[in-house]
Amino acid sequence: MPAQPPTALLLHHLEKWYALHGRKLPWRGRTEPYAIWVSEVMLQQTQVGTVVAYFERFMRRFPNLQSLAKAPLEEVLSLWQGLGYYGRCRKLHAAAQQLFAQGQTQLPSSLEALSALPGFGPYTVGAVASIAFGLPTPAIDGNLLRVFARLCALELEKAPLLAQVQRLAEGLLHALPPGHPFGPGSINQALMDLGATVCKPHTPRCAECPWSFACLALSQNKVAQLPLRKPSKPKPILSWLLAYIEWNGQLLMAQHSPKGLFGGLWGLPGVAVERRLLGKEAACGSPLSQCLGGQLPMTLLSQTQRVLTHRRLQLFVYAIGLEKRGLGYPSKGLGLGLGLVLEQGKDLLNPSLWLGVPQEEKGEKAGEREKAEAGAEAGAGKKKGARGRAAEEKGLGAGQASSPRYACLRWVDREAALRLPSSAALRKALEAALEKAPQISAQRL
Ligand code: SF4
Repeated sequence: MPAQPPTALLLHHLEKWYALHGRKLPWRGRTEPYAIWVSEVMLQQTQVGTVVAYFERFMRRFPNLQSLAKAPLEEVLSLWQGLGYYGRCRKLHAAAQQLFAQGQTQLPSSLEALSALPGFGPYTVGAVASIAFGLPTPAIDGNLLRVFARLCALELEKAPLLAQVQRLAEGLLHALPPGHPFGPGSINQALMDLGATVCKPHTPRCAECPWSFACLALSQNKVAQLPLRKPSKPKPILSWLLAYIEWNGQLLMAQHSPKGLFGGLWGLPGVAVERRLLGKEAACGSPLSQCLGGQLPMTLLSQTQRVLTHRRLQLFVYAIGLEKRGLGYPSKGLGLGLGLVLEQGKDLLNPSLWLGVPQEEKGEKAGEREKAEAGAEAGAGKKKGARGRAAEEKGLGAGQASSPRYACLRWVDREAALRLPSSAALRKALEAALEKAPQISAQRL
């Protein structure tokens, strides 16, 4: 058992320090659980400085749980654009919808009910329960792990360290009587601030630390070694081959299905390959070519990269040479090939619709078209469902191309394509392609 620092003294110094040096943030001082929840979700994996503007904009548009629950996911994602880690946003929206469907307009206040909501892991439960409802529940993130590992000189791997820090933090949270002005929410936020601004990973400012009097790592000269770090493994590489298909000044964009890496976000349609592509293979885009029927001429337009938390992404964009086919709309090969990458076959049942006419055509004409296609959809949908299931069962192995199942295809002009909610990686690939892509006009076909 490591030496236990004097709890009352630690709290006293922490309270004084927090009163003077705690960060002044737009969600601090707000009492609505909804606002606290939104801020905590945004703060995960994201720097405070980045979150501030997003939080204020989000709260102006979605000031309460009802407004968030009623909004379409696409709009919520568009306000999240640039923050990254879009799974957080989807789960935030899903939890709001779940509560609203149950007739709730506020977050529940019990740990059990919070833990049952989408996106509520131990950290979010602890943060929301303590800050919004005053429950003495630790909110352990990397900051707290680091502060306690150093304070108590805990030379432990991550799992035992987490268990030990949980006990230490609970000890602090229960040390003050209920109703004390320095309550659980303030203690957790003070610890977060201490880790983020003083006990920093690489440049701790021990001379300014309110806990330096008790810090064992400092007295044992072990600050730089703690917490213990595992040597990082190389990240797996995922390559995406994306198709740049422009028709009549309109660009084909695809919305990813709600779950998965780019869930709900828009980008150029394509296929994923779970490995780094070799130069020659990348240059000819063979997995994409196979997916599109193997016949179409394609030219590599751009190549971009992005490093995510758990993997590295390579994105290759190919211009598909429709104009060389001399067709009014794409070949059967392209239609069927793209059919493989769609979950909802609706858009592909009549290629002349989705290539020749913007997808979101409104009015009488669109209504007539929908009616005419309704019969065809049922039969073709069955066929596509079987194909989709086969691809799904096949899974994504090393070196295999995987067709994502898109939720929707849309023809939009270039400016509109750039306004669709997208991830930083997909946006970068699109921008690079737009810079290089030649205009393909109807006159050339
Ligand atoms: S004294 Fe230094 S190492 Fe110890 S808790 Fe404070 S900042 Fe961290």
